[in-house]
Amino acid sequence: MSSVKPLNNSRVLMLLGQLERMNGEVMLKDVETARQVTAKILHLIQTQEKSGKEVMSKGSSGMEVILSSLEVTLLIQFYSWFSVIGRGRRVGVFVSKGGTGVLFQILISASNELPPSEELMLQLHSLLAKVGPKDRKFGVKARLSGALNITVNVIKHNLQNTKLLLPCLQVLRVYSTNSVNAISLGKCGVMELIFKIVGPYSKKNTSLFKIALDALGALLKSKTNARRLVDSGHVSVLLTLYLDWHRNDTRHRCVLIRKGLLVCLRNITNIKLGRKAFLEADGMRILYNSSNECLPVRTLDPLVNTSSLVMRKCFPKNRLPLHTIKSAFHFQLPHVPPGGPVAQLYSQPSGVDDVADESDNEEPEAETDTENDEDDKDQCNLNDDIETDLNKLHPKRTIGRPFEELKIYQKFFSELSEDFQVTHLFSSLSARFTQPVVVPAAQESPKQIPGSEVICNSVKEHQSLASPSPTGSQTPLDLNSIDLSKGKDKKEDVSIPAADGHSAPPPFCSSPSQGPLIEQELSHPLECVSLEDKGSQNTEAGNVGSECGSDGAEDEGGEGAVLEVPDTAQLLPLHDPDLYVEMVKGTQSVPHYAEVAYPDYFGHVPPVFKEPLLERVHGVQRSKIFQDIERLIHPNDILDKVVYDIAHPSESLKFNSQFESGNLRKAVQVRKYEYDLVLNADINSNHYHQWFYFEVSGMRVGVTYRFNIINCEKSNSQFNYGMQVLMYSVQEAIGGRPCWVRTGTDICYYKNHFARSSIATGGQKGKSYYTLTFSINFSHKDDVCYFAYHYPYTYSTLKMHLSKLEAMRTPQIYLRHDVLCETLGGNTCPLLTITAMPESKSSDHICQFRNRPLIFLSARVHPGETNASWVMKGTLEFLMGTSPLAVSLREAYIFKIVPMLNPDGVINGNHRCSLSGEDLNRQWQNPNPELHPTIYHTKSLLQYLAYIQRAPLVFCDYHGHSRKKNVFMYGCSVKETVWQSNISATSSDLQEDLGYRTLPKILSQIAPAFSMASSSFVVERSKESTARVVVWREIGVKRSYTMESTLCGCDQGKYKGLQIGTRELEEMGAQFCVALLRLKRLTGNRNHQHLLDLETDIIGTHSNSCTTTYVLEEDEPSFLEEIDYSAESNDDDAEPESDFCADVQENFDQLSDSENNHRD
Ligand SMILES: [Zn+2]
Repeated sequence: MSSVKPLNNSRVLMLLGQLERMNGEVMLKDVETARQVTAKILHLIQTQEKSGKEVMSKGSSGMEVILSSLEVTLLIQFYSWFSVIGRGRRVGVFVSKGGTGVLFQILISASNELPPSEELMLQLHSLLAKVGPKDRKFGVKARLSGALNITVNVIKHNLQNTKLLLPCLQVLRVYSTNSVNAISLGKCGVMELIFKIVGPYSKKNTSLFKIALDALGALLKSKTNARRLVDSGHVSVLLTLYLDWHRNDTRHRCVLIRKGLLVCLRNITNIKLGRKAFLEADGMRILYNSSNECLPVRTLDPLVNTSSLVMRKCFPKNRLPLHTIKSAFHFQLPHVPPGGPVAQLYSQPSGVDDVADESDNEEPEAETDTENDEDDKDQCNLNDDIETDLNKLHPKRTIGRPFEELKIYQKFFSELSEDFQVTHLFSSLSARFTQPVVVPAAQESPKQIPGSEVICNSVKEHQSLASPSPTGSQTPLDLNSIDLSKGKDKKEDVSIPAADGHSAPPPFCSSPSQGPLIEQELSHPLECVSLEDKGSQNTEAGNVGSECGSDGAEDEGGEGAVLEVPDTAQLLPLHDPDLYVEMVKGTQSVPHYAEVAYPDYFGHVPPVFKEPLLERVHGVQRSKIFQDIERLIHPNDILDKVVYDIAHPSESLKFNSQFESGNLRKAVQVRKYEYDLVLNADINSNHYHQWFYFEVSGMRVGVTYRFNIINCEKSNSQFNYGMQVLMYSVQEAIGGRPCWVRTGTDICYYKNHFARSSIATGGQKGKSYYTLTFSINFSHKDDVCYFAYHYPYTYSTLKMHLSKLEAMRTPQIYLRHDVLCETLGGNTCPLLTITAMPESKSSDHICQFRNRPLIFLSARVHPGETNASWVMKGTLEFLMGTSPLAVSLREAYIFKIVPMLNPDGVINGNHRCSLSGEDLNRQWQNPNPELHPTIYHTKSLLQYLAYIQRAPLVFCDYHGHSRKKNVFMYGCSVKETVWQSNISATSSDLQEDLGYRTLPKILSQIAPAFSMASSSFVVERSKESTARVVVWREIGVKRSYTMESTLCGCDQGKYKGLQIGTRELEEMGAQFCVALLRLKRLTGNRNHQHLLDLETDIIGTHSNSCTTTYVLEEDEPSFLEEIDYSAESNDDDAEPESDFCADVQENFDQLSDSENNHRD
């Protein structure tokens, strides 16, 4: 023991020294002297601040000396120490010096006296109550020293002795936070004891009640205890007590007691039996009604929140209103790989219910009676996904395929061998727009397949622009071209009511005075632009003109019946409604859609106003949940009427999603103005519900409609953080505002009570779906409105845009539009080559032309990420533009672009997959030519380039991100991955070119939406078959990226606080091009070292210590939200406790502290 040196002649230290010497003797005989000395010390501490510091400071051994005296002498005076120790931070010193153990020893000794001294017990427990919350091992120490029973006995024998009971219950409360203690205390009947203490409403003993309930709540975290209490019928007792306090505590002075009762209920209902007992005791109605009474009083929020948590847990699991969760459409694959997702999906024996599990979730009720001392286990989970295999981290750059096999891809790179010696080429290029121009394909290579050569820029024949000439050969690369025969007479095919509201009043422009009859008749035809060639539909939507009263217009309605399309030619140079319809005709959808959605037909002009992130209204989630709970409480109010089913037409609000990219499976009217909507699974799948795009008509003005999408799957959504849904009003479009706008109020996203089958969750039972709810007030009667998850961008739109872009080509632009391959669904996958024509035919210029570095871009592998297409549109428009930057860019690079990697998924309204039922961005390691043709051939192109030593300088795959804000990149860095994974210290001397950071860094400097802080360069195991990782690892592209654009908005930069729109997305695509030009200035220098220096400059001086933000692509946003969205049944401490009850003593703070920190 270090001795106490009275350096400054301090009296207190001298006394301590004396005490220490006495302790040092074998037995402390002179108890009286020791008492005197300690009494003097005590006096000094109490009277002199300085002395107190000297004894209690961390460096001093004073506390130890005193404690060892206490240990031996059992000083009765010790409780005077209470006042000293009780002062704030000194408790910590006391604990660190072993004070807790001493107290327990004293407690044991004191309990041997018969009867034990009441005063001593009171003081000991008061002191323990102070110490407990500060000692992480308090529970274990208490159990090992045998203190648990002593406290329990004191309680048992002093049920009427409030003064003594209070500190004992406080201590019991701390004991109970240890799970082993809780179980053993439960066995001793402590919970029954507590029920003898708490009772109906009373103004007396409220502190005691509160502490007793706290202790009970802690005990009930043990499932064994919860079961014990349920078995003895105490759930209804708790409910009765709660109701009694709720009714009588009219001035809300005892909110903490009411909360304490709810916490007990919350913990009991963590077990299935508890939930059952709760329902049987009419708990739903009791909590629902009491909560409604609490709602107007803001300070009662904690009661409402806890009640709502209990009710959500106990709400019986419901099944989705479907017969099967398999997509409503099936696509027959050419071959179904055994063991693959489609084989699994369709191999379930008939009669198996895939909507909900047969039995209610069997939860593991067994409880392990062990303590988990390691409470930081979950710390490691975050890094589990980081690639730690150094071999895998090093790009291997082996193609793994014979060159013979790749040679056929040469034809997609004719620019690399172009000699421009064919004289008519230049002349025809200069005669722009007059006739189709065919850029000659390489040297008439024998491998050249007719039909793959392409290009053209005729404005007369749209179709020839977008599609290669038909071909019959059937090599894997060879495609059926778009069927042009259907597109003979364009305009007549789309017969849409005239818009000049007088001669032929179409529903859109009908004045409000128009009668309901007309409305009814007219609203239907409005629902769609129909493709004529589905002749059988003439009398239905297809024949809009005649139904709209343009007499005898019939099919030939032609000019007269053509809808007055908002004139957007100036604003939307790439849009043309007629051309769009043409394109749709060549698009093959699995459901054979015959309609065109108005927004796609009219086009979208970004609105001029700002669209800020939606501010959350207080209590919105709660009120929505209450409305859901009301369905159970007042079942008679529920209509439960199916109003839309892909298979059956309907009445009431009308829904429709049967057009390209549409997704809505079913709509059920639950209340007069409330609809449950069910999304369709991706084709050949039974999940991936997120993307939606549907039409609503037949609405009324002046009422609020609530829509609930009830089968969402992700556990959180940007809809909780300011994002709104998109709506497109046809009335507004006709009125000159053809735009998608962010809309909807009372938006929130939360876990609901619809059960998810374990078949769709990969075996996990007891999972629920999530609800996205939003409310809408329509501003036009007889409108047709569209709702979408994000700005739609269909495959036909892409074809239209490409066609228009080709038409805009100038002679200086070298543009080739090849068909890379055909998809499973029979659609073509476009491949674009964009660069500048060589300056002249001189060999120098030709050489410069051929040797430009390549940039390889792709997008929209995930169909639900439409924002990726808008970014790509921005890129393409910039590349084809006339600005000096665009000219320089084309002169600098050859661009190879696959703008839509998953056309089938886009067309059919999938969210994530292709028709093979698989995520195509997980197939890059080993793509199957038959099942994943677009990936297979895109990868082959890259392999070909690697073979001929022309691997691209940059590869970037455009994506959208549903859970984060801003635009950012994922790249690949060995070093940053190693740093994250802590594989070993030695690996940190890895040499790595920092070039992968240059492009994102430039972007963060020039693109307002881009955020470097959100970017990451870590290679994850789960991403090893993504484009980014495979192109980096196998093709050897150092700058291989995924660029993620938010679906929501920005929280930094110029657009901070705003939702993102197509303007910003397109700007991002253009800025990406500008960044490439800057990159060119850096990489153009042949001196490699110089290049590195420059790049390092750009990256900034901190490059060596640059921190990586490691974020999983599917990461949750790390916002601190007061609201619990998940309502998992085991979320302890879900709601932060707050101080609002006047009659509760200061102990509350400490106790609630201990709730969080005390896990031993
Ligand atoms: Zn994606």
